[in-house]
Amino acid sequence: MEKFTLVTGGTGYIGSHTSVALMEAGYQVVIVDNLVNSSKKILSRIEQITGSAPVFIEADLRDTSTIIEIFSDYPITSVVHFAGLKAVGESVEEPVKYYDNNLGSTLSLLDAMALSEVSTLVFSSSATVYSSSEIAPFDEAAELGPTNPYGMSKYFIEQILSDIALGDDEWSIGLLRYFNPIGAHPTGLIGEMPTGIPNNLVPYIMQVAFEKLEKLFIFGDDYETPDGTCIRDYIHVVDLARGHLAALQFLEDANGSHVWNLGTGKGSSVLELVKMVEEVVGKPIPREVVGRRSGDIPVVFADVEKALNELSWRAENTLMQMCVDHWNWQRQNPDGYQ
Ligand code: NAD
Ligand code: UDP
Repeated sequence: MEKFTLVTGGTGYIGSHTSVALMEAGYQVVIVDNLVNSSKKILSRIEQITGSAPVFIEADLRDTSTIIEIFSDYPITSVVHFAGLKAVGESVEEPVKYYDNNLGSTLSLLDAMALSEVSTLVFSSSATVYSSSEIAPFDEAAELGPTNPYGMSKYFIEQILSDIALGDDEWSIGLLRYFNPIGAHPTGLIGEMPTGIPNNLVPYIMQVAFEKLEKLFIFGDDYETPDGTCIRDYIHVVDLARGHLAALQFLEDANGSHVWNLGTGKGSSVLELVKMVEEVVGKPIPREVVGRRSGDIPVVFADVEKALNELSWRAENTLMQMCVDHWNWQRQNPDGYQ
């Protein structure tokens, strides 16, 4: 029997790569997205990669009656829920917008799922839910304590979903805590499309390499790390997408709520990443060390044993491959999907 999966936020960065992974594994994908941070043009790119286009419905998830209609129009049996706003800085400035969108979307989706008797859900959470007092590697039992409205919205949603699974054993829910997704599909057809000046390190470096931005500002080189810059666990977005497929397949034969880190288990410093990009693009990246960015934790990387043991999933791509694919995407699409 064909399996229909609803992918919310499926025209976004991680949602599009996961849609490809699901379609390549034989799932029928129905995408719902309001295009607040993505483009419809991605649909033909997905078709170029997989040979068929996913179903696409342009809608806001908070519009519950439309979501209920989608469940009645297609024989959907599971949901992968990416839709949300994700800029940490903006969430500090506009917390209500973040709580309204991220919590409102999820509650609306849950209402529609309950009414439609669909109870298998994979949710995009984030390593940002972990407390800054924890020491890397972070395992799933580490203390939680997000420090900004974006992270709080993920934390609240995790709590809501855990409560739902506790109260009704029909539900099967996976909370995926992503570390730092980078890279792009190896075809260079889909990738991340930051609007305006990127906040995250790798999209920023790539735009410096492409000479769209003048230089990289390194936020602090006086941390207690080997080279003084912060360490993060960068994971190839295609590995992350495969992680969703593994989680979904696990949940199809399980119930309750489950949490898995999706990372590589290895940390890389800002300077290591800069050097890797320099090697890939074959030229120096102009840079300047400036003060620390408020809220940055020196060392963040995942303990990945749980995902390996329970999902038989592990990240496979090297940091070099992540940089090669991200650069390839950047060069082929200097203006995103324009
Ligand atoms: P993205 O912005 O590229 O994708 C999110 C998609 O959701 C966009 O296409 C946007 O248009 C859509 N969307 C937002 N609000 C919506 C609404 N109310 N109704 C319908 N669609 C809506 O972001 P991404 O990087 O692909 O992230 C996907 C998910 O993963 C997000 O929930 C994000 O918080 C989470 N996450 C991302 C990262 C990261 O570094 N990219 C890290 C950890 C967690
Ligand atoms: N960073 C930087 N310059 C930038 C963007 C990020 O030095 O223009 C640093 C940042 O301080 C952090 C690391 O790069 O130490 C990764 O930042 P990113 O925002 O990509 O991920 P996060 O900190 O949210 O994990």
